[in-house]
Amino acid sequence: MREYIIPFDTNNTPKEYTDVVIVGCGIAGLYTALMLPSDIDVTIVAKEPYKETNSYLAQGGIAAPCDKFNDTKEMFFNDTMVCGRGESDTEAVNILVNEAMDNIIQLEKLGVKFDKDDNGFLLGKEGAHSVSRIVRSGDSTGKSVMEALYHLAKSRENINIRENIFVIDILTYANKSTGILILDDGRVKSIFSKYTIINTGGIGNLFEQTTNAKGINGDGIAMILRANGIVRNMSYLQFHPTVFYNNSSLKQSFLISEAVRGEGALLYNERGERFMEKVHPMKELAPRDIVSLAIMQQIKKQITPCVYLDITHWNEEALKLRFPTIFGFCQRNNINMAENLVPVAPRMHYFMGGIKVDINGKTSIKNLYACGECSCTGVHGKNRLASNSLLEAIVFGRRIARNIKENIYDIIDNDKDIRIVNVDSSYKIMEDEHTIAKWMGQYFGIDRTIAKVKQLENKINKAYCNAKKTNIICREEIEKVNMISVIKAIINDDLNKKITKKTNLN
Ligand SMILES: Cc1cc2nc3c(=O)[nH]c(=O)nc-3n(C[C@H](O)[C@H](O)[C@H](O)COP(=O)(O)OP(=O)(O)OC[C@H]3O[C@@H](n4cnc5c(N)ncnc54)[C@H](O)[C@@H]3O)c2cc1C
Repeated sequence: MREYIIPFDTNNTPKEYTDVVIVGCGIAGLYTALMLPSDIDVTIVAKEPYKETNSYLAQGGIAAPCDKFNDTKEMFFNDTMVCGRGESDTEAVNILVNEAMDNIIQLEKLGVKFDKDDNGFLLGKEGAHSVSRIVRSGDSTGKSVMEALYHLAKSRENINIRENIFVIDILTYANKSTGILILDDGRVKSIFSKYTIINTGGIGNLFEQTTNAKGINGDGIAMILRANGIVRNMSYLQFHPTVFYNNSSLKQSFLISEAVRGEGALLYNERGERFMEKVHPMKELAPRDIVSLAIMQQIKKQITPCVYLDITHWNEEALKLRFPTIFGFCQRNNINMAENLVPVAPRMHYFMGGIKVDINGKTSIKNLYACGECSCTGVHGKNRLASNSLLEAIVFGRRIARNIKENIYDIIDNDKDIRIVNVDSSYKIMEDEHTIAKWMGQYFGIDRTIAKVKQLENKINKAYCNAKKTNIICREEIEKVNMISVIKAIINDDLNKKITKKTNLN
């Protein structure tokens, strides 16, 4: 790894001070901010507006064990562990399961409206859940949650939300976080804080095609890598099985929620044959990694690069009522879900790995927390159970807020102007981001092999070696540097895990 350079002195930058700085304005950032006491100054910084987040796009809902359908915490625990291929952390999963309902109720108190009738929550069913337990708000749960949290946070005097500001790096000193370095309207500035929380989301845009929102490309993880922080399970990526297939070159692909299969939709190959029956006892509702792999195997055997989702046994009225967003999207693409099959294919969707945190969201760097998709609490293991992601963000977000509340009043504010910058922003990667993202699609897909990953490694190493020095600090170039460093960490983890597994088998 090239040595980090310090391109400028934060002493020469305008400085701001806050108690807690939060990087990211998705569910993890907003909920954590709202859980902090009102006498703590919080600054939320995000590079895109709040609607441009994965949180806003979430469709299905939030998993939680309710008293309905004979569900129990033990059943939810088991489903999460089985789906995670036995690699989930039992302590973290226990916390997730036990604190789920409390946090859903907390969301309601903050103004989120979930679908309910006289008997309580209306619950959806999704893959690998043994019962219906997804608390939802139509088929746009993320939008409902985000609208409520964002507007409430905006109204709080102690919370300052600043969108369209790019965070270049975290400031650290002696393995302790002291704030962040930002790019605000072309100017580099420093925000010093007692605590910093990274909530930068996943890595979807490292791939050519993804369900993820614009700008979600692993920046926070790259910042941690530069600061020599610890990451974990970097090669554990989730490809969603049913993403609307069209042959346009649009990067962001539209998700057809698993909830549609939860309501009985079936999968067919191009010959009109159901194929999941032979693959897994849960058929179309098997865990995501299994369904995605089965679809890829079908696609390899056929001419058409997609399979088909059939929910035509529902009528138009019912579909419009239950899935207004998905129905509307399909209709705009000339597909009436009540009459036509929906073409779907797997696409990059979710990141199970990330910044290693403990059960209170603490990273390996002092005073630095991480939460949401950028973090790795260990709850998802190797494969996330559907609708456990929003849940993880709220459960661990609240734990972070509690942990900060317990400690912040003891901090003697003596680190104010400490200014070690980790950024390697003086390098320009010559390849454009589309080329890099294309490589990921080609060499790091569902069916990747050691040979393919090594080919990717060569390409990434070359791109790194060909980088040219520059003095210009700009968002696009830093994002590319971030992409390369996160991809390198993904490749290393994948090869290490594959090679260790091979050695163990021998
Ligand atoms: C289409 C879709 C549907 C989904 N449906 C569900 C579902 O039904 N249930 C479920 O549990 N999960 C679902 N997920 C997953 C879930 O939505 C995400 O994992 C979760 O919302 C992530 O929240 P977050 O707060 O960690 O990140 P995000 O909501 O992605 O927010 C990340 C924030 O970080 C900011 N940021 C990033 N880098 C920088 C930087 N350098 N400087 C400043 N700001 C930065 C971004 O601007 C953004 O504000 C879905 C995901 C997608 C894409």
